[in-house]
Amino acid sequence: VQGLYVHVPFCFHKCHYCDFYSIVDHQDRRAAFTARLIEELTAVGRRLTRPLDSIFVGGGTPTLLSPGQWHTLLKAIGQHLPLAPDLEFTVEANPETVDLELAQALAAGGVNRCSIGAQSFHEAHLRTLERHHEPASVARSVTVLRQAGIAGLNLDLIFAIPGQTHEEWIEDLDAALALKPDHLSCYALTYEPNTPMTARLATGAVQRAPEALEARMYETTLDRLDMAGMSHYEISAWAHRDRQCRHNLLYWSNGDWWPAGPGAAGHVQGVRWRNTPRLADYLDAAPWPSIQDVERLDADGRVGEEFMLGLRLIDGLTTQAVDGLLASGQRGRQRQDTIQRCIAQGLLQDGGGRLRFTRRGLLLADSVLAELV
Ligand code: SF4
Repeated sequence: VQGLYVHVPFCFHKCHYCDFYSIVDHQDRRAAFTARLIEELTAVGRRLTRPLDSIFVGGGTPTLLSPGQWHTLLKAIGQHLPLAPDLEFTVEANPETVDLELAQALAAGGVNRCSIGAQSFHEAHLRTLERHHEPASVARSVTVLRQAGIAGLNLDLIFAIPGQTHEEWIEDLDAALALKPDHLSCYALTYEPNTPMTARLATGAVQRAPEALEARMYETTLDRLDMAGMSHYEISAWAHRDRQCRHNLLYWSNGDWWPAGPGAAGHVQGVRWRNTPRLADYLDAAPWPSIQDVERLDADGRVGEEFMLGLRLIDGLTTQAVDGLLASGQRGRQRQDTIQRCIAQGLLQDGGGRLRFTRRGLLLADSVLAELV
């Protein structure tokens, strides 16, 4: 399985919790960006030896490109990239920027899945996040995307927002479920370094949600989505049967994906790198952008990464894979001890030929994974 991640770096406003590379562009460089991106994608296409199984266009706000720019971009993708017949093609959509013309341009160009940044259905919490959309625009964009024939729909939701109550989170989950998405991603708010949200936390302008409340919200999510018939397949992801996100599974299984666009990160045959996150540089360099953060993990680093990614999946890792990993890293003994301790503490379970998190372990997954890396 091989994928492509495309980064569109434009946003009409910078949300306070966001640390992705994106800019509020006052020079209107979207047309120049689209032309430059096509050059890069053409170069990527020449390198690919097998068809792409997934494409994910994220950002930024990809839906800020106009229907005309999308038409040009999607036509070029069809011409210059080898695509598997059952390609999963996802575009991230901001609810405020989707209209029927844009949705039809996406669908006509082969996009079959959209991931909508809903985040919350409460205006007050959207304001805390500095997200500039109306809760009602989520339902509107879902309707329009379906009308255009885009069947795969994910909604992104955030919980543990400062001031958010447990009841409000239940209302958010129910509002999302009422729209019948086939996929949901629910993340606890994280305070990334160098974001306005983290600065507001430091000055006391916002208070972090209490740990117990965050845990209760996550447990409620597990129960509520289970009752709704959605299966939990990764720490933060739920899907109806057969609707798991192939592109995300590619990340979690440490597969190969090419990056395109400024700030996009990729991983091909054990090497990770990132295109330099600077639009001006990107527009100047052709066809290949300058890159940074090139990393080839050593054997032990790869083992740590396999644990970190594999255990994020609810099905975990096969016992056979775990044994192989423990035998090949330098810190096999140490990792073995961590695993045994976590099993004894009821955080991991080893049964049915697989090692995976228990329900209680999912609540502490980040710290367990940090130890295993
Ligand atoms: S719209 Fe998305 S990428 Fe843009 S600033 Fe907000 S969270 Fe970040």
